[in-house]
Amino acid sequence: MCGIFGIRGSEEAARVTHLGLYSLQHRGQESAGIVAVAEDGSAQTVRKMGLVSDGFEEDRIALLRGSTAIGHTRYSTAGTSTIDNAQPVFVRFRGGHIALAHNGNLTNAVELRGALEAEGSIFASTMDSEVIVHRIAKSRAAKPEEQLAEALNGVEGAFSVVVVIGTTLLAARDPHGWRPLAIGRLGDAWVFASETCALDIVGATYVRDVAAGEIVAVDEHGMRSMAGPASPVLHRCVFEYIYFARPDSRVFGGSVDRARRALGRQLAKEQPAPGADIVFAVPDSSNAAALGYAEASGLQLEHALIRNHYVGRTFIQPTQAGRDAKVKVKYNAVREVLEGKSVVMVDDSIVRGTTTRGLVALLRGAGAREVHMRVSSPPITGPCYYGIDTPEREQLIAANMPVAEVGRAIGVDSLGYLSLDGMLAAVPDGPGGFCHACFSGQYPTQPPVDIKRYRAGA
Ligand code: AMP
Repeated sequence: MCGIFGIRGSEEAARVTHLGLYSLQHRGQESAGIVAVAEDGSAQTVRKMGLVSDGFEEDRIALLRGSTAIGHTRYSTAGTSTIDNAQPVFVRFRGGHIALAHNGNLTNAVELRGALEAEGSIFASTMDSEVIVHRIAKSRAAKPEEQLAEALNGVEGAFSVVVVIGTTLLAARDPHGWRPLAIGRLGDAWVFASETCALDIVGATYVRDVAAGEIVAVDEHGMRSMAGPASPVLHRCVFEYIYFARPDSRVFGGSVDRARRALGRQLAKEQPAPGADIVFAVPDSSNAAALGYAEASGLQLEHALIRNHYVGRTFIQPTQAGRDAKVKVKYNAVREVLEGKSVVMVDDSIVRGTTTRGLVALLRGAGAREVHMRVSSPPITGPCYYGIDTPEREQLIAANMPVAEVGRAIGVDSLGYLSLDGMLAAVPDGPGGFCHACFSGQYPTQPPVDIKRYRAGA
């Protein structure tokens, strides 16, 4: 899971990118980085572990000169969480530079890397993304977009990328269109961002998305597009609408807020909770779905769970006691709302079930009489190989037991999930053109051959 940002044509390119990364923080909190490139081809980079807000000092950003910049926020899905794996990837070659920021996961990276290593390539990281940079460097094509096209030809899996080759900014999406990538305009500058909330923060206007398979190049002559091979059927990640993207964004051209409300309304139709008194969200990712559920069910919407926004990643022992403590650090229940009530808790998904079990215990501790859980997506039964951080099948609670047992394991009085068809009908531009492999087991492409090495990145 990652956020990417790119701009060409602004005297403040690095500053604008820094600002854009604030709005992409939810897509990755492990590390962040910026590369800025000046018109003479000189380039500078900053990369830091941790959050954007405590990542960069203003004076270091001020040193990043140039009218072109790309940035990245990272949460590792392949490769470890170290500074070596912080992006953008940045290398010198043929007297110039290549910089790349990648969102998604490459499913044949281990094989591509093996082939490059056999020819003598050496790697500085365990990231799948680094293979793209090596393949760009090997291309003998004349134009930067042709070099990138050659590099991406044969790369499988999910990628939305922003790349700088020399002084040309490029943006591309894989032929399936798994991850979003929007194009915006800021004065004379062209801007690219994973989500439109990052265009909003910098004051850019949304123009359109980079199309699946398309490569867009921006240089001193302006923007041009090169259509690449697009899959006959798109496989946009439906989980972007369910959980991952921010509700104030448009992804794949559709509003995330509208999508989540529609998911909530559909959930209320499919999984009513007769006799319940109130409904509430597990904040924040399911707020909009709970609004939709309330609207369609007529139940009173309440704030029954309060999330502590000052908690970052918590390092607590992975015992049950540790996990319960972790939930309590992040959430508390409002007794005045819950006491004596039959309640509906709406969440967007259940992954391992550990957080959910802790939440249910909190609700009961605060006096809830009955707890009915409603989930605005179907049971997650398989891992994602295309860029969402879901664990392997053994750890996915719904992959290992029927729904009734999941309900018992998390301690609710009833549990209802949204159906696959209901979900696909509710999202913008559905029901076709989405990847739902984590719910349906229908992987659009061959999953990685060696899962362990794929996770390790090498
Ligand atoms: P759990 O009960 O431990 O499976 O946690 C469920 C919670 O995790 C839900 O509130 C989801 O919003 C959230 N969630 C869903 N997908 C992810 C993900 N890939 N990474 C982190 N949290 C997630």
